[in-house]
Amino acid sequence: MDYWHFTRHYFHSDIEDKVMKRLVILGGGESGVGTALLGKQKGYQVFVSDKGRIQEKYKDVLLNNEIEFEDEQHTASLIFNADVVMKSPGIPDKVALVTELRNAAIPIVSEIEFASQFTDATLVAITGSNGKTTTASLTHHVLCADFDVGLAGNIGDSFAKQINDKDHENYVLEVSSFQLDDIHQFRPKVAVITNITPDHLDRYDFKFENYIASKFRIVENQTREDYFIYDADDEVITEHIKQHQIQSKKLPFSLTKVIEEGAYYKDNKIIITIDNNQIIMPTDNITLEGKHNIKNAMAASTVAHLLKIRKQTIRESLENFQGVEHRLEHVLKINKVQYINDSKATNVNATYFALESMDAPTVWIVGGVDKGNDYNELFPFVNEKVKAIICLGLDNSKLFDAFGNMVDIIVETGYMSEAVKIAYKIAEAGDNVLLSPACASFDLFDNYEDRGRQFKKAVRNL
Ligand code: ADP
Repeated sequence: MDYWHFTRHYFHSDIEDKVMKRLVILGGGESGVGTALLGKQKGYQVFVSDKGRIQEKYKDVLLNNEIEFEDEQHTASLIFNADVVMKSPGIPDKVALVTELRNAAIPIVSEIEFASQFTDATLVAITGSNGKTTTASLTHHVLCADFDVGLAGNIGDSFAKQINDKDHENYVLEVSSFQLDDIHQFRPKVAVITNITPDHLDRYDFKFENYIASKFRIVENQTREDYFIYDADDEVITEHIKQHQIQSKKLPFSLTKVIEEGAYYKDNKIIITIDNNQIIMPTDNITLEGKHNIKNAMAASTVAHLLKIRKQTIRESLENFQGVEHRLEHVLKINKVQYINDSKATNVNATYFALESMDAPTVWIVGGVDKGNDYNELFPFVNEKVKAIICLGLDNSKLFDAFGNMVDIIVETGYMSEAVKIAYKIAEAGDNVLLSPACASFDLFDNYEDRGRQFKKAVRNL
């Protein structure tokens, strides 16, 4: 337990007490500590409270910046005197403290809401069930060619910390639904929704419509001067758009149909039109693989074209983007077998695109904590491309039920090293070994990064 705060006299005078607003931050992780720094710089009296243990590196930041905090507890008397509360995205709405704060009518904001009031930067906000990190990283990579751009969200330093340290002229923000749940004024110039499939429903009363509504909050404060880029092939998105008015200018993208204003894909080319200004880019040499990544590339290039990056620059950037770790990451080729780490595929939709993009017989490592998965949509790919399945989870019964009759070999293990060794034995020259779990990792691993790293280590040990 750690409790620490300055003596009142030293910290602030009575006069300051009257003018200083009190900012209480729930959660002492990346977004919480970033908000604390920014809040302090902007003249708030800041207090950070975390029910769990705050990591040492964050404690050091708080101590060095003379910011009060507590961990492994929430002290009501230090929280309910807040003028505003920043709730970190990991804290569910259901916890008693949050309910009580709402009952007490104390405003609760998310980090992006708090931070965005202190920057005039152009904001590109990207949300969706899958593809946020890839699309945000790729968009950042393309925009960086010509602009001063920060990349924030679940990647690297928090948005608030970047504004605190050295504000950028533009930001690409990867925004989760949890961040959107507590926005009030947050208004991105460009909003992107990559796709919407059921995920995190435990945080949305198990109602898909609540989750959809949360994603669409990304456009709620946009005006006619702003832009909304989205996947026009995604029925959940298009249905919602039919039923709700959206102020911003729509720039859809599609793999299957011609789009007059927005982007589409035809004959291995991306065609983007905005205000009669069209660019056409071949995709033969882009580094990312799979149809889903063509979608991500369309989204990123539409942002870039909109912000007036030159066509040649966009094209080169798509061709030299190195991809993101744990997302269809090519690890090694051993005996002509390609090992691919897609540990970030924690739901069926992500694995769908991974299997779809396989261009050779595949030994598939799958499993973990099932989030109510429906595997039906994977059947055609499994029939066509998967030669063996290695189930890697504590409870693999659902996988055996779904795929047992579909492949000749289906085995289970609780160890990554063993899973990789079995894959090594089964795979033949020209095959792929794909880790794409379609499940969360918490039964056997700390998180998906740990799972991906253990996979890569096991592959390197072969
Ligand atoms: P997020 O940040 O939304 O979780 P990531 O970019 O980290 O998305 O990718 C998560 C998983 O989804 C990876 O397995 C990746 O290969 C897959 N993926 C990436 N883009 C898409 C997309 N547009 N549609 C479906 N799956 C995708």
